[in-house]
Amino acid sequence: MSQYADFYRQSIEQRDSFWSEQAQLVDWKTPPTQVCDYGNPPFAKWFVGGTTNLCHNAVDRHLASRAGQTALIAISTETETERAYSFAELHIEVQRMAASLLAMGVKKGDRVLIYMPMIAEAAFAMLACVRIGALHSVVFGGFAAGSLASRIEDAEPVAVVSADAGSRGGKVVPYKPLLDEAIALSKHKPQAVLMVNRGLAPMHLQPGRDHDWAALRAQHINAVVPCEWVESTHPSYTLYTSGTTGKPKGVQRDTGGYTVALAASMKHIFDAEAGQTFFATSDIGWVVGHSYIVYGPLIAGMATIMYEGLPTRPDAGVWWSIVEKYKVTHMFSAPTAVRVLKKQDPAYLSKYDVRSLKALWLAGEPLDEPTAQWISSALQVPIIDNYWQTETGWPILTLANGVEQQSTRFGSPGKAMYGYDVKLIDESTGEELTGANQKGVVAIEGPLPPGCMQTVWRDDARFVNTYWKSIPGRLIYSTFDWGIRDADGYHFILGRTDDVINVAGHRLGTREIEESIASHPNIAEVAVVGVADSLKGQVAMAFAVAKDATGLTDDAARLTLEGEVMKQVDKQLGAVARPSRVYFVTVLPKTRSGKLLRRALQAVAERRDPGDLTTMEDPAALQQVKDLVG
Ligand code: ATP
Ligand code: MG
Repeated sequence: MSQYADFYRQSIEQRDSFWSEQAQLVDWKTPPTQVCDYGNPPFAKWFVGGTTNLCHNAVDRHLASRAGQTALIAISTETETERAYSFAELHIEVQRMAASLLAMGVKKGDRVLIYMPMIAEAAFAMLACVRIGALHSVVFGGFAAGSLASRIEDAEPVAVVSADAGSRGGKVVPYKPLLDEAIALSKHKPQAVLMVNRGLAPMHLQPGRDHDWAALRAQHINAVVPCEWVESTHPSYTLYTSGTTGKPKGVQRDTGGYTVALAASMKHIFDAEAGQTFFATSDIGWVVGHSYIVYGPLIAGMATIMYEGLPTRPDAGVWWSIVEKYKVTHMFSAPTAVRVLKKQDPAYLSKYDVRSLKALWLAGEPLDEPTAQWISSALQVPIIDNYWQTETGWPILTLANGVEQQSTRFGSPGKAMYGYDVKLIDESTGEELTGANQKGVVAIEGPLPPGCMQTVWRDDARFVNTYWKSIPGRLIYSTFDWGIRDADGYHFILGRTDDVINVAGHRLGTREIEESIASHPNIAEVAVVGVADSLKGQVAMAFAVAKDATGLTDDAARLTLEGEVMKQVDKQLGAVARPSRVYFVTVLPKTRSGKLLRRALQAVAERRDPGDLTTMEDPAALQQVKDLVG
């Protein structure tokens, strides 16, 4: 049996001793008395009886051995600023922020909503919250007032931490007016607001409610705020899912399980060591930002990079210049970002020395083979796909290089990670599929491992009803993604369960059709949706971005390319999968985190109301589609 196979088996068959060993990776004030309490399934309580603190493990714990080492590097190509904080400096800043929150009336168990751009103060605020036992609820900066208001209503924060503005592609986005509008819209009113003034946009501070960070920081310049030791099961934060499929869910995470899960993932999955540098290009508004910009790397004693800006500004070499300058060892990004870079001159990549990199991890959406191949040959490092969800907090499927180096397989995010009892479930019978290469819903048998969601914030019923199905004698968590597992245990994600289309009785994954279309040399990106059809039930419809769109201004050229694409699908998948139309657009509708909004595309293609679009990146993208389908 391979080393990893053995490691995995122990994590499932000797669950408690396995996780008890992992718990040694973190500091406890009082050690746990029970590893896992699963007496009330599907609610799992990890490391019961233990007390700890997330901020202590991310910051204070390192003071003895590496106070002077770099902890946080905040880089903004928007404001052209760059600032590094050592663990000792981070410790001081976090205490100033914690003291300010306490002075504003925040207490243990209270929620603090963080609506911030990618600046160091955002990380201070998150760490300060968990330091005092308050729960942060980070909302992606720049979300419109409506989506912010609904999250304020759901989280009921006592306080909000925000900034005057963010900036994107050189354009200042003022946050304060959005925040004021959101608070006005919301039934719940936070009692205090802490504003970081970056000097980017004028702000009006509301007396009695709004506080200026610079002033409060000065008042608490020598603040000493000890960590509040909390129960392992004390919630550390709530975070809303990306909202790709509808109303976002408030994921609630614990403290002890999450700390252990992240520490373990840094060791076993990322094979990381203290003193190395982690660069995740995500945003603190998403789960990757929580786990792998802020907490994971710091828990591991690494330096972490927070980057505000685009991957293409001032030019498409900016990320690689950061890798060179800071000797980044671990990089984490998303396929969508790589596809953006792929459209640029490849010479930018060879301009910099990126030999410090050990690997590039990509997550968030399917990694198509051409993209993976392009970046892998450009960087000459392993490209490691990893599959997980806001709900789980850390990878479900990937490779655990820290346990055993295993080879990647194109198109596969890899193997089931330790702790996740991954199953494939036949949708029609509800039975477990045990054979190789059978297609089913990717599911996890309870209990979910440490670090995963405890429940939906204030809605236990929604947690149970949304995610859990029972198959005789067992409770299974559904990911709502289709997958298969090959004979060697490598999994392949085929798309979301709501992305399957049914053409004249044939069930087709939209992803398969997209891959076929994307392999055409002049297609950069494509989205396929199922559209209602009176004859066939549904037909596939494709929206594609051409690599070279110069010739596509006239109808004849468009029809030629459309015909070529259709022929290719016919040849690769068969005529049933052939899209009824291939429309050419310049940009596809995506969420702010880069996920395709198929739900909205499909609605527009069927001339329906696209519904809640608050998480959409660029409204113009959907307008193009509307104009095309008429
Ligand atoms: P919502 O649940 O609100 O609709 P969401 O599912 O997009 O939003 P996230 O938790 O950010 O919110 O995304 C998790 C989903 O992203 C997964 O369930 C899967 O569909 C997709 N995904 C993530 N990583 C990968 C990957 N490596 N390969 C394929 N799909 C992935
Ligand atoms: Mg989801």
